[in-house]
Amino acid sequence: MEFNIALVPGDGIGPEIVGGTVKVMESVAEKFGHKFNFSTYLAGGCAIDAYGEPLPKVTVDGCLASDSVLLGAVGGPKWDHVPGNMRPEKALLGLRKVLGLYTNLRPAVIQPALADACVLRPDIAAKGFDLMIVRELTGGIYFGERGRNEAGDAAFDTEAYSVAEIERVARSAFEIARKRRSHVTSVDKANVLETSRLWRETVHRLGETEYPDVTLDDMYVDNAAMQIIRAPSFFDVIVTSNMFGDILSDEASQVTGSIGLLASASLGETTRGMYEPIHGSAPDIAGKDLANPIATILSAAMMLRYSFDLAAEADFIEKAVADVLAAGWRTADIKAPGAETWLSGSGMTEKILEQLGK
Ligand code: NAD
Repeated sequence: MEFNIALVPGDGIGPEIVGGTVKVMESVAEKFGHKFNFSTYLAGGCAIDAYGEPLPKVTVDGCLASDSVLLGAVGGPKWDHVPGNMRPEKALLGLRKVLGLYTNLRPAVIQPALADACVLRPDIAAKGFDLMIVRELTGGIYFGERGRNEAGDAAFDTEAYSVAEIERVARSAFEIARKRRSHVTSVDKANVLETSRLWRETVHRLGETEYPDVTLDDMYVDNAAMQIIRAPSFFDVIVTSNMFGDILSDEASQVTGSIGLLASASLGETTRGMYEPIHGSAPDIAGKDLANPIATILSAAMMLRYSFDLAAEADFIEKAVADVLAAGWRTADIKAPGAETWLSGSGMTEKILEQLGK
């Protein structure tokens, strides 16, 4: 099969980690007989320097014309003082908007070889976990009506959801669960919030009518926050609103250990998604070949699985990463305390390429 992939490396370590990931994707394409055509576009600080704006039209057009987008990270101290509407981060929000991405996927997986780095109790980490948070991205309280009274001593923000908004993110969650262990936990606060009661009714109606093969349960958000720490192996797919997902996805990712290992995806109505590591542009290590490429490589694996329906190819990449870690190879950010040697970022990419059989 042939796919057109837009690369948006961005700033800081972005070009290093995206460059390594392209080598991994090319190796997999060759092995499985596919063709990936890559086109590179500027966004973020580097686009401000080149075009005077963080998200130039050429980048928008290139991403819209692609089958999916792989993004590194944007931002850095050089652009910290530009005016708000010109900030590098505007490129991310702008891309999500023009690509119509309303679902955010954040996996949290404990790599067995890195159980030591997990902040959970050893007996809980030893059980392992592999959960996926599906967060609604464009509605809810972050986008609702807001304001202050005339005196400025009272303020309000509004949580609002329509059935259509809930249905489309719930549908994404059910579809993803079918590609995993067929279990969805819908997280809400239906004991207090009317929007949560509509959320729960809607998710159940959809589950019963269209996804009877997927196990569906509900959990209040306060309980979910506890269970992610007490019993993370319970979860397969969690589906939740914008604000609850924002908080739970950061919690779930931090319990795994390293920021350099965590992938993410944003999806919409079409199969075209935007895939990116959850970390930023790490200006403190940019240009030093210290950046761990694994989060970006695993983001590319998500692209193959969720946008291109290439499950075997995604498994192949994920297994190569797990095997390299199991063999004890580490970058600086995940080395054991006191370890005297570690791989550079490009060294880690090379190890993964060797594991893939180059
Ligand atoms: P950061 O994620 O860039 O870095 C936090 C720490 O983690 C740093 O010590 C960094 O060296 C380390 N780190 C991050 N990724 C790593 C990797 N792959 N390998 C090894 N170590 C890694 O967060 P920050 O320092 O708060 O932000 C730096 C810049 O990135 C800011 O301009 C911020 O706005 C931007 N940012 C962008 C995104 C994005 O593009 N999605 C997300 C977060 C932050």
